[in-house]
Amino acid sequence: MTLSGKLLLGAQQVAGNKGVLHAVNPATGQTLEPAYTLGGADDVARACELAEQAFDVYRQQPAAVRANFLNIIACQIEALGDELITRAMAETGLPKARLEGERARTCNQLRLFAATITSGEQNRVRIDPRQPERTPLPRADLRQRRIALGPVAVFGASNFPLAFSVAGGDTASALAAGCPVIVKGHSAHPGTSELVGQAIQKAVAECNLPEGVFSLIFGAGAEVGAALVAHPVIQAVGFTGSRAGGIALMRIAQARAQPIPFYGELSALNPVLLLPGALAEKADDLGRQFVASLTMGAGQFCTNPGLLLAIESPALDQFVQSASQSLQAANAQTMLSPGIHNAYERSTACIANNSKVQTLAQGPEAASPNSCRAVLFATSASAFLADPNLHEEMFGAASLLVRCRDEQELIKVVSHLDGQLTASLQLNAADFTFAQQLLPLLERKAGRILANGWPTGVEVCNAMVHGGPWPATTDVRTTSVGTAALERFLRPVCYQDLPSELLPAELRDENPLQWKRLVEGKAE
Ligand code: NAP
Repeated sequence: MTLSGKLLLGAQQVAGNKGVLHAVNPATGQTLEPAYTLGGADDVARACELAEQAFDVYRQQPAAVRANFLNIIACQIEALGDELITRAMAETGLPKARLEGERARTCNQLRLFAATITSGEQNRVRIDPRQPERTPLPRADLRQRRIALGPVAVFGASNFPLAFSVAGGDTASALAAGCPVIVKGHSAHPGTSELVGQAIQKAVAECNLPEGVFSLIFGAGAEVGAALVAHPVIQAVGFTGSRAGGIALMRIAQARAQPIPFYGELSALNPVLLLPGALAEKADDLGRQFVASLTMGAGQFCTNPGLLLAIESPALDQFVQSASQSLQAANAQTMLSPGIHNAYERSTACIANNSKVQTLAQGPEAASPNSCRAVLFATSASAFLADPNLHEEMFGAASLLVRCRDEQELIKVVSHLDGQLTASLQLNAADFTFAQQLLPLLERKAGRILANGWPTGVEVCNAMVHGGPWPATTDVRTTSVGTAALERFLRPVCYQDLPSELLPAELRDENPLQWKRLVEGKAE
């Protein structure tokens, strides 16, 4: 497929007139062709106009039609073959196997959403039939279903150029819900974005859907991204990225004449609690496993284990020794972009220069540019509690061990943590009593709680929660991974006393779609 370097507005390829950008290969520093033309407010307005035109037609398509569309997007992405993987490798520095795995995850995710909407599960139909004889007042006939919110703006993430970018989780869940999507492509991987965008364009045409169901715009976040979030047609936003970028866009979403939901995934430390029983039993193994999780993908995961909490003991010293050995042998890896590499260098230097922090171990010097040297720091609980700078995310393979004097001090540290995507407990049976004390606290802090696992690796399934209290996300009630992500882009509507002929199919007595429903409080 030919890369055009243009915006994809509906079915068209359109050249932007706000300058150009080139992708850069982070492994070599080489500039990649073609130049990508950048859009502005006019392009945002055009994409929004098309999305608004498409909305009512698209949202009212039978679920089976939207499911077919998602399945065809997956097939079109697969049909891109090696071209997609080669371009993504050049733009991100990520290895082939990782990107092939990510492509599979992206397509499986689209297919999972397709299966989910066909079952009607997300619609949560509820019916309370008329009760004309009820006293003192009869009850009206009340029927609830969920409808799509409206056109959605998606900000592709840099760290998942496929699974959380143009056709990633936010796009898949919004399209599944019945919302047209306008993607603000991430500036670090425009070619990968365009290839996937062209695959979606083809699927739109193949399914005879209105062209405005999908658009892809390149441009500066502060200009084109801000204009997109502010545009009155947009009814919700999905974002994964930095806390600063997320907050800037969230403020725009909230300051609109009509404020809209902003689903941002921002930053997390993902604490791992090394409980005494587990440390005494397997300190060496835990040290090795920790470094494997920390250094996976150069640590560029939102669920990277950036914080370790443990009580002082000889077993903890053994863990530190084992982790340090593994870390010193962990080769430096290319980071996603020069910008992310600079941010990593800045944040780790800031922690390394903190007088209350000790650098325990560091990976070998890097031979190529934009590489991430893994690093493990340590500090005391009292220093951690006193200094908010030690609670900042270091995006990359860096982690901070907080040494606590006893159980009470560890509990105090946990209670001072910000919201997190995950909290992990390394434990054995000897730790259960302490774990029982910790669990209610961890539930208030994190969206996912793990036992004897490491937080990297997020399953796409029905039960997954990839969310959590601020600043892990901007909306604690939702998840951005898994089928429950659909709910972010739906809203309930209740129909009172509508004649059967006017009711949507899923609300009629005869239940022609055979969806599961709650009728008079009973599941049918
Ligand atoms: P980013 O800088 O937040 O960029 C993400 C998207 O938001 C880009 O499209 C960007 O546009 C836009 N944007 C950024 N600042 C904006 C602003 N002030 N107003 C409007 N739009 C704005 O994230 P990134 O480039 O992916 O990575 C930078 C840092 O984000 C990392 O070092 C890391 O700390 C964090 N990060 C976190 C996660 C996570 O999972 N929580 C994932 C990735 C990155 P441009 O194209 O103009 O840049």
